[in-house]
Amino acid sequence: MDKPIYKRVVLKLSGEALKGDKSFGLDEETIMKIAEEVKGLQESGVEVAIVVGGGNFWRGRSSKEMDRTTADYMGMLATVINALAMQDALENIGVLTRVQTAIEMRQIAEPYIRRKAVRHLEKGRVVIFAAGTGNPYFTTDTTAALRAAEIESEVILLAKKGVDGVYDSDPQENPDAKKFNELKYKDVLNLELKVMDSTAASLCKDNNIPIIVFGIEQPENIKKVIFGAEIGTKLKE
Ligand code: UDP
Repeated sequence: MDKPIYKRVVLKLSGEALKGDKSFGLDEETIMKIAEEVKGLQESGVEVAIVVGGGNFWRGRSSKEMDRTTADYMGMLATVINALAMQDALENIGVLTRVQTAIEMRQIAEPYIRRKAVRHLEKGRVVIFAAGTGNPYFTTDTTAALRAAEIESEVILLAKKGVDGVYDSDPQENPDAKKFNELKYKDVLNLELKVMDSTAASLCKDNNIPIIVFGIEQPENIKKVIFGAEIGTKLKE
């Protein structure tokens, strides 16, 4: 386990992963710990693209009253805040980064351009994808699936807060819940397991992109996964 087993990865960080013990928003210490891990990957030659969620601020689907499209655009903006926080933490420790947004905001970041993103990765920069897919009714898990397909990432690392893999029932409610080591996408879809939305699972299934779901409470798990440790749950075709 002395060499990374992947060359190019998409790391999906949910908004929750960035809030530490807080109930809302960002925890800078937590973000810095994740940044240190990303730096380690980059130093071992892994090309890292990050897709950030926004659930630590706002999720469109949680809104009851608001127009769904408006609520979703607010969620996409939340991911931009997280992307900038992640960029700041990484650059503080000397990691070169670029943020690319799916909705243009040129004063803040580059617009998403696939070829440019790939070029950044080849040059050893960490690319952070913000504003989701740029479309309402999608999630950042689907964004991770889409970007992974576009940039030909070998795997998606789905870093979760509060759970360390995929279970047959909610481990918070059922102490006998069984964790899967491996699972096929068709079972994720058929069993309606709530690990990710069905759009994201279908996209990964159709494009044969594996996902490793693991807990981010120990940020060193990111490195362990990249170096081949069998933790969490691997989803595959
Ligand atoms: N969102 C969207 N389109 C996208 C990605 C995200 O509309 O392509 C919105 C949606 O409202 C979502 C919010 O942004 O709830 C935050 O993303 P997500 O819920 O995936 O964040 P996470 O749960 O990973 O923190």
